[in-house]
Amino acid sequence: MTYIGRFAPSPSGPLHFGSLVAALASFCDAKAHQGQWLVRMEDIDPPREMPKAKQIILQQLEGFGLHWDGQVLYQSQRLDLYQQQIDTWLSLHQAYACRCTRKRLKTIQHIYDGYCSDKNLPTENSAIRFVNTSQQTEFTDLIYGKCAFAAQHCQQDFIIKRKDGLIAYQLAVCLDDVTQGINHVVRGYDLIDTTIWQHTLIKQLGGTPPNYAHVPLAFAEDGRKLSKQNGASAIDIKQAPQLLVHALEHLGLQPPKLLHKESVEQIILWAIEHWQRQKVQNVAVKPPNSV
Ligand code: GLU
Repeated sequence: MTYIGRFAPSPSGPLHFGSLVAALASFCDAKAHQGQWLVRMEDIDPPREMPKAKQIILQQLEGFGLHWDGQVLYQSQRLDLYQQQIDTWLSLHQAYACRCTRKRLKTIQHIYDGYCSDKNLPTENSAIRFVNTSQQTEFTDLIYGKCAFAAQHCQQDFIIKRKDGLIAYQLAVCLDDVTQGINHVVRGYDLIDTTIWQHTLIKQLGGTPPNYAHVPLAFAEDGRKLSKQNGASAIDIKQAPQLLVHALEHLGLQPPKLLHKESVEQIILWAIEHWQRQKVQNVAVKPPNSV
């Protein structure tokens, strides 16, 4: 079976060092397994989108030597497909409308209790939740090994369409992973606790869950996770060699001392040749407050 992996950035801003780590890890893992590496733009949240971020992200990937296979898939062009799936599940009672307020969700600590499941509420101005009957609470990560999560988190009816009418990430990501035949997902550790829901949705869509490998996050000096929301700075193409070497070190590889003096192409070749999940495993300590 051909390895098919992907990198799926949200265009809420340009790539920062944390997203470079995730992109590089998924690229190297795919190429070290003679795989395809696809890029999917997760542009389904216009209010959080930054103008031009899509073009900038693609330029950054090119500038860092991370050349993708095939065409970039834009989720914004697939909204009808996501909605059709929601409509199908609504008609089969595998999804329902929910009008619980933020205040109510807070009182139940955001672990949904099925309050709206038998209310048959109109779908307009409602969130849509998936009827989750899965008992799964564990999966085996290719880096972190066996990962177990609280049953009440895994087994709740989670949101597949938001109250504001936007398609939820969970649904779009799963439908696309199935459609694109993705069999390996390498991404940041911050998404690890959504993996069980994604297994559930993918099986419901008739697909086979991919193998998942989560990679350690990069933290800012103040200890916060680097993210577009907290203003992590964009990676600069002019510094690509140094940043690539730094990202490889973050992933537990030991690049030779002068590798940053080489061209981007040479660094990427070195990275593919020396890529080993075992090395990442050696530096993959579970962050505090994790599962
Ligand atoms: N779009 C998500 C992000 O930028 C990544 C989704 C995924 O890899 O599953 O954090």
